Order: sequence, then structure tokens, then C-alpha cells
Amino acid sequence: MIIYKTLAEIEIMREAAQIVSRTLGKIAEVIEPGINTLLLDELAEDYIRSQNALPGFKGMYGFPHTLCISVNEQVVHGMPSKRILEEGDIISVDCGALFEGFYGDHAYTFEVGEVKPEVKKLLEVTKECLYIGIEQCTATNRIEDIGWAIQQHAESHGYGVVRDLVGHGLGRSLHEDPQVPNYGRRGRGKKIQNGLTIAIEPMINMGTERVAQLDDKWTIVTEDNLPSAHFEHDVAVIDGKPVILSTFDYVDAALAKRK
Ligand code: MG
Ligand code: MG
Repeated sequence: MIIYKTLAEIEIMREAAQIVSRTLGKIAEVIEPGINTLLLDELAEDYIRSQNALPGFKGMYGFPHTLCISVNEQVVHGMPSKRILEEGDIISVDCGALFEGFYGDHAYTFEVGEVKPEVKKLLEVTKECLYIGIEQCTATNRIEDIGWAIQQHAESHGYGVVRDLVGHGLGRSLHEDPQVPNYGRRGRGKKIQNGLTIAIEPMINMGTERVAQLDDKWTIVTEDNLPSAHFEHDVAVIDGKPVILSTFDYVDAALAKRK
């Protein structure tokens, strides 16, 4: 059952999403070759708690960390660890925050140092997929229109669209109805209505769409070990149109400063 939100609830969700956005901005300030990913996790937890919020993922389904950190061929749900980031890596940082009873859940894939042009392209196209999907999130459309648009764009570049993991409704629970796949058929699925709040999160692979789970029972990797990218925003439908509750502005500002 889809839980539609009031404007007042959406305002709280915006703050939850913005806490995550600012957290990703903090991460953007420090990512570089030579650091380990546990350090990013600690930084994120401290910042979220300083904002009168709780880490949204910690303890969820037994997950022990604040961030999901997925490096290179890891798609999502990777564990922060002592692994040292290397020049040319990419890392998807997915972060959740629980604020006044509502969740924010959003993600960015960062470059570590200088990244190969074909990997840069994958990141670029995946970010485009996110915004192309968001554009479809209008009250004249249906849920699968979002995935349809994402799939068209990703596949036009020869990339694989992950099928086994999807976006989702978001609110007082981290995962609510409806599921929001990154693939689909035009005009299929539930009608989009005002008050819908969803996390749209294309997971796009350079090669095959097929994925596998590592023995840690969390980390999802590409079957062919080629890189994967992941960008996520929280979106509400207001007056028939998509409103993005999260932002990459803090990330963009931090990255611009470092150039
Ligand atoms: Mg997420
Ligand atoms: Mg999500």
C-alpha cells in the first residue's frame, strides 16, 4: 500500500534528505587515494548525529554501518572497511538519516583521484539517468515510466540496467511501496499522484546487468566485475510535478573547491 504524504510531512522529509545531502558534501571534502572507507563512515555518523538525526541504515536489517560504500565492481550495499581507496577507483556512497520520524536516503558515486575516461562516462550517464527518471515522475504518468526512461538512456550507451535492485517509496519506513524499478514499459504500473514520496536510484553497469552477492551476505557486485555506478535522489510529487528533496549542491561545491 502506498502511503501518500501531506505537505507538512514532505517538509520534514526534505530536512531528512538535506541532512543526507550535507553528509555527502562532507564526504566529498575528504575522499582521496590513501584513505580507508571506515573513516568516511565515522565522519558520516558524527555529522548525522550532530544534526539531531540518527543514521538511517545502522541496525536496519542488521546492517552495522552508517554508509553503504561500494567500490568499483560493487554495485550497492558494500561495507565500510579498512580497504584503502586507490587512484582511479569509484565509490558509491549511499547514506540514510532518520529525522523526526522520517527517512532521507540518497547516494552519489565519487571519483577517487583521476578516473579512466570510460568510467567517467559511466558516471555521467548514470547521473543523467537519475534526472531523466525524475522528469517522468509527474501526475500524468505511471511508475514504470520512470524506469522506462532510465532504461532507454542507459541502454542507448550499451550499459546494463540492474534488475535485482530497485528504487522505492520512502517515508516513516526506509522502504515503502511502491517499488521503483530502473527498467520498465511505458504506461505501466500505478498512477503517480500528489503526495507520492520515492527514492529514485539508477544502478547502471558498464557491462552485464547481472549481479551477484558476496559471501558477506551484503555486498552486491557485477557478475563480470566491470564497474557500476549509482546515484539516488528523494523525490516528492507536489502539484503534479516532481520536487527533488535532496540535492547534490553540497557535493558539487566541495568538489569544485578541491579542483
Ligand atoms: Mg540509498
Ligand atoms: Mg534507496
